[in-house]
Amino acid sequence: MSAFICAVDQGTSSSRSIIFDKSLNIISIGQRELPSYYPQPSWVEQNAEEIFASVVSVISESLIKARLSGKDLKAIAITNQRETTIIWDKKTGDPVYFALVWQSRQTSDLCEEKRKKGYEPLFRRKTGLVLDPYFSASKIRFILDHIPMGQERAENNELCFGTVDTWLSYKLSLGKIFKTDVSNASRTLLMNIETCQWDEELCHAWNIPMSILPEIVDTSEIIGEVDASFFGAAIPIAALVGDQQAALFGQLCLSEGDVKNTYGTGCFILMNTGSQRIQSKHGLLSTVAWRFKGETTYALEGSVFVAGSAIQWLKEGIGLIRHSEDTERICHQVKDTHGVVVVPTFVGLGAPYWKSDVQGAIFGLTQGSNDQHIIRATLESIAFQSSDVIMAMEKDAKQSIKKLKVDGGASRNDFIMQFQADLLHTEVVRPLISETTALGAAMLAGLAIGVYKSTADLSKVWKTSQIFKPQMDEKTRKEKLERWRMAINAVTAFKCDHHEN
Ligand code: ADP
Repeated sequence: MSAFICAVDQGTSSSRSIIFDKSLNIISIGQRELPSYYPQPSWVEQNAEEIFASVVSVISESLIKARLSGKDLKAIAITNQRETTIIWDKKTGDPVYFALVWQSRQTSDLCEEKRKKGYEPLFRRKTGLVLDPYFSASKIRFILDHIPMGQERAENNELCFGTVDTWLSYKLSLGKIFKTDVSNASRTLLMNIETCQWDEELCHAWNIPMSILPEIVDTSEIIGEVDASFFGAAIPIAALVGDQQAALFGQLCLSEGDVKNTYGTGCFILMNTGSQRIQSKHGLLSTVAWRFKGETTYALEGSVFVAGSAIQWLKEGIGLIRHSEDTERICHQVKDTHGVVVVPTFVGLGAPYWKSDVQGAIFGLTQGSNDQHIIRATLESIAFQSSDVIMAMEKDAKQSIKKLKVDGGASRNDFIMQFQADLLHTEVVRPLISETTALGAAMLAGLAIGVYKSTADLSKVWKTSQIFKPQMDEKTRKEKLERWRMAINAVTAFKCDHHEN
């Protein structure tokens, strides 16, 4: 009998629905772009109703394309943009404010205020995160402060808070499900990462009534059903999972020490740390990867702010290239960067440096430097920045990685992948299915409904597309890393000039 699973991948720029068969082949994809709104510089909002409507429409589209109906689906899995914060009215189910998107910096002042009061170590210790507008807590506070009687309504049990997983499952079940999974909850700054429960002290610090928070459940478990009125049959929702954690699962990084890097606009690097929650000494975050049958797996997470967007800059900023794909061919037209080093730290330096007051730079220019060298050095910078994060992870985890699994748009670039393998002196493995986020969510749902008995079943269907083996000699590798380190030191030393625009 066929067992189809629908994975909803609700991302920041689009919503997608992918239907998988039992062997995890992709049967169909539905996709719809999603607008963001920018009411002020650095504020990013979305319309929660638009998010929901886009999800219903992409699920329908994927069913139609696959010539299936709702009753053919054994389960739905939801993976989502993380941290994005939605508050709605418990009675009507209507959002009371825009969804505040993870990228939005509109709560910087609120976080600064908490930092001044000395809260930072508490958040770091209890949540594994840093005190930053990125995470949900300050966004909840902002909404409660910006709607009429917000605090009173929250205290009177009239409001619900949810990240996107919670919002979607609530709406799809016509309000019957009010839950979030541990991977999503671990990104709110309100969950104690040891107990995996909402923490009274943390909620108190933000004056957030605990009654507005959803129940925390396993990542892989049947949490209720999509109402039959949507797709003609009641469909179990069998997984909720944050997008980066889903990709870690979809890459089959299931053992301690396994690492994946998603090369998109930025890079998201996660290392499975098993049942151990590692407190980073190098500015990385600790987070929950997933919880299955009550057993929690943890991860270390680090990100690179500017990765694929450096290639966008080559295209749209300085006009050196026409298409992202062209960069690979161009890189091979020169034998090296001729000493050029590009540091594309346009929005500050993230892990392991954490310096916000840093701008980008190009070093090593000579009369002989040309656009190909600059392009090649820009691509190399993506691998250098990723190596910095991965080497920090190795120090925190006190082990070297054995291989790096890769996905995301820029992982299609063989030049970057080879250079990454060279720098890390580690194999880089690119899977056949590049949709690892949806794949991971579908696998987690499949485990919950028993389509797969164990993760061993999953390894059988996961296929490698290409392996990049390290080829660079050790001396060259050391020299390159040393020059990169010098460039990082130089951008850090350079005094930042703040121009608007
Ligand atoms: P996101 O999910 O962050 O929107 P994607 O995973 O879709 O990102 O990746 C898009 C990014 O990948 C873009 O910044 C683009 O410049 C880059 N990219 C896509 N294809 C290539 C390629 N062949 N070589 C290098 N970069 C690429």
